[in-house]
Amino acid sequence: MSSIREYDVVIVGGGASGLAAAAELRMRSPGTSVAVLEKNSEPGRKIRASGSGRCNITNTAAEGYDEIIAFFDRLGIVTRSYDNGLVYPYSESAADVAELLAARASELGARLISDAEVTDIRSCPEEECFETVYSVSQSGRGKGAAKGGGGSRIRTEAIRSAAVILACGGKAGPMFGTTGDGYRLARQLGHRIVTPVPVLTSIECREWDKDCRPNGIELAGTRTRGKVSLYKKERVNNERSNNEGEEFSDLLFEEAGEIQFTKYGLSGICVFNMTRHMRYDRSAGGSLDDFCITADLFADGDIREFIKKRIENAFPGECAEHVLRTVLKENIAEYVMAYAGISSGRALTELDDRDIEALGAAVHSLRFTPSSIRGWKDAQATSGGVSLDEICPETCESLLVPGLYITGELADRDYPCGGFNLSNAWLTGMRAAAAIAVKMRPEQ
Ligand SMILES: Cc1cc2nc3c(=O)[nH]c(=O)nc-3n(C[C@H](O)[C@H](O)[C@H](O)COP(=O)(O)OP(=O)(O)OC[C@H]3O[C@@H](n4cnc5c(N)ncnc54)[C@H](O)[C@@H]3O)c2cc1C
Repeated sequence: MSSIREYDVVIVGGGASGLAAAAELRMRSPGTSVAVLEKNSEPGRKIRASGSGRCNITNTAAEGYDEIIAFFDRLGIVTRSYDNGLVYPYSESAADVAELLAARASELGARLISDAEVTDIRSCPEEECFETVYSVSQSGRGKGAAKGGGGSRIRTEAIRSAAVILACGGKAGPMFGTTGDGYRLARQLGHRIVTPVPVLTSIECREWDKDCRPNGIELAGTRTRGKVSLYKKERVNNERSNNEGEEFSDLLFEEAGEIQFTKYGLSGICVFNMTRHMRYDRSAGGSLDDFCITADLFADGDIREFIKKRIENAFPGECAEHVLRTVLKENIAEYVMAYAGISSGRALTELDDRDIEALGAAVHSLRFTPSSIRGWKDAQATSGGVSLDEICPETCESLLVPGLYITGELADRDYPCGGFNLSNAWLTGMRAAAAIAVKMRPEQ
């Protein structure tokens, strides 16, 4: 080890939560020395990628919204909110947010150390301090840094500090540096980790398997407005069950929005949000097969009534699919017809009550069977992480290791799309900073 330095506070991870903590701490307690250790060659990589490059910075409905807005105001990062509650930087540039936040933290006096991958944190209770060990890679090269480590390692260093903020994120988007290091570090310090799983990502479905008819691939590339619902399948054998001996649980999740059909299954914000409700316990025999998704493609009306009315006024030669085409895109209408078992070109006036019922079921609860949830590379957040039973909610301080703070996505908290996950990162970073500032400078 080449040297041991001393700081009041070490922040592990220069992402959303780490940078917010650094800036807030220096604003509240200018005399407190702060070092931020970031394994990438630059801080805030994930912030840059957030909101498709626009950074959905918070939401008017997010916990701590006023505090978050006040924080960005103080830093000179101007935001604007939209009617749907989403808040973006005024410039709509995620890069601006990452750069300004890092620049402000640095101007306020925090020391940002990039290409520094923390490998070990030792708690030394007798000396009331921590020793954070990190390996430094060749600065500026950043080779391989995004994959979860710096470029060629040149030396190991350590910092002794009175407090440590673990802000190294979860496992979603490993290309931004979040490869789950925080779980190992927290576990070493005695914390329990709720198994992390990827969420806010697309869902692959069995209807896309090549032998499935009709095949979901016919829908690939199409977007439509609708409502997705999630149920759990329960194997039963009674009169409430369907032909396959399946019964469905109460509704687990429902959301209206844009459904995107991709080359492997379902995507779109409402589908992303659904993944947060698809946890299962493998050790207890659970699997994704337990779930069933339905899509209502005409949530504004009843397609059965619509069809019946059209039959009364049918033009000579009018086909069944023409009625569906008035509310559905062409390939979706064809898929729905095939799903309902009605051949294309069938005359509208030939449809009987059973056909109309089958079309109604297909349009209003088109069924999809999840086969897998897209992995970490596609996920925007992590469900699971450091158990909340072991973290003080007001200060983010560990209840097991005094002086250790756990913020952001590393803790077992996840939220829907819409600026809520970044809000959690900013807010928990700020709360840890506020608590440390009081401890460091009790007179303030
Ligand atoms: C593509 C994408 C888009 C998103 N868009 C939005 C959005 O618009 N709005 C929203 O609310 N949420 C969004 N999210 C989620 C949001 O970005 C995260 O929830 C948030 O960044 C988590 O903040 P954090 O500080 O906990 O972790 P991060 O911001 O992920 O930061 C953790 C940092 O720790 C560093 N690190 C990890 N291990 C070590 C180590 N051993 N040593 C040193 N440093 C380490 C990492 O390199 C990283 O820089 C998005 C996520 C993704 C992947």
